[in-house]
Amino acid sequence: MDLVFATHNENKLKEVRLLLPKDIRLISLEEIGCHEEIPETETTLKANAQLKADYITQHYGISCFADDTGLIIDALNGAPGVHSARFAGEEKDSKKNIEKVLFQLKNTTSRTARFKTTIALNLNKERILFEGAVEGTITKEKKGAEGFGYDPIFIPIGYDQTFAQLPIEIKNQISHRGKALQKLIAYLTKDRIY
Ligand code: IMP
Repeated sequence: MDLVFATHNENKLKEVRLLLPKDIRLISLEEIGCHEEIPETETTLKANAQLKADYITQHYGISCFADDTGLIIDALNGAPGVHSARFAGEEKDSKKNIEKVLFQLKNTTSRTARFKTTIALNLNKERILFEGAVEGTITKEKKGAEGFGYDPIFIPIGYDQTFAQLPIEIKNQISHRGKALQKLIAYLTKDRIY
């Protein structure tokens, strides 16, 4: 089965490629000639994931899935949430996003947070959503060089290293996207566990 993953993010492609079984061939946006930015203008993760998947289906007529992720920090009343990519501005700069989070948390001891991901699958005429989440805490400083986005400041519960310090295989087993993807794979292989 051929499936487009509607993302320009090379790190996400790398994570997802490691998890998908061999009989699902992941096709990148570059391979279908999609170089434009895909709109993500909705106000929820679910609606944004669906918007991105629908954009590809409508413009390229191909089965695909898209994900949308948010970091939800309790002490910031759920921010950055659906605005995670543009928390510090339109340029979607992860370094600036991290600095803004650390600055806003600098006087607080409550540092609990979670990543949430929704994956929207458009397969022929089916439109299905899969969700995944991981609980954790926000560090006081950046740690680690792996991963992307907010990984250097997020320690998943049960671990003492950030997602940017942990091997990608561990992140994939326990992460928001990994869990949503495991449900997607189970669905595609008809072992419907969700
Ligand atoms: P989006 O789902 O690509 O729109 O991601 C929203 C924001 O969350 C961006 O700033 C990403 O860099 C960040 N993000 C998405 N997935 C992850 C992840 O697995 N780890 C850390 N940050 C992430």
